[in-house]
Amino acid sequence: MGPLLRSLTMPSRCLALWFGGVSVVVLGVLPAHATSWEAIDALRGRLTRAGVRVVQQDCSRRGLQGLYHPRSDTLVVCRSHQTPSQVWDTLAHEATHRMQTCAGGPITDQRHHRSMAAALMRNHPSEFRSMRAYPRNQQLAELEARYTAKLPPQQVLRLFDRYCGSQIRV
Ligand SMILES: [Zn+2]
Repeated sequence: MGPLLRSLTMPSRCLALWFGGVSVVVLGVLPAHATSWEAIDALRGRLTRAGVRVVQQDCSRRGLQGLYHPRSDTLVVCRSHQTPSQVWDTLAHEATHRMQTCAGGPITDQRHHRSMAAALMRNHPSEFRSMRAYPRNQQLAELEARYTAKLPPQQVLRLFDRYCGSQIRV
């Protein structure tokens, strides 16, 4: 699998759809939350402890925000972000690709995909549209990553623990 490129980021608004094995679906839009550096540090710490190399880079490709490269277990955050919310969005997006690697496939139940796509289309239309630029076999991974990046940080951290947490235990 090649690097999963991330080419668009949008300011975060939360969607309250909890997944990851919990079957209750609460779909709706919560008020926008300010993402703090604290949340970014917490997720970066988890990634690092799980063995991921997290690096910042000047990315030459236009519009590229970040990427996760599974083979080298490297997560790149491009130096193109203006606000903590944008950094968070990219970090959470790429961390989701790491969760998919930990899970060996999708991290969401097929039953939820339609409502996830609908919520993303409604709340982040450009994120939704830009998914179409990806090959069909990457679109589910992208849907999950884009959706997860809009969840409240505590939920993203919990999901990371759930899928990649066993590697953290000593
Ligand atoms: Zn992606």
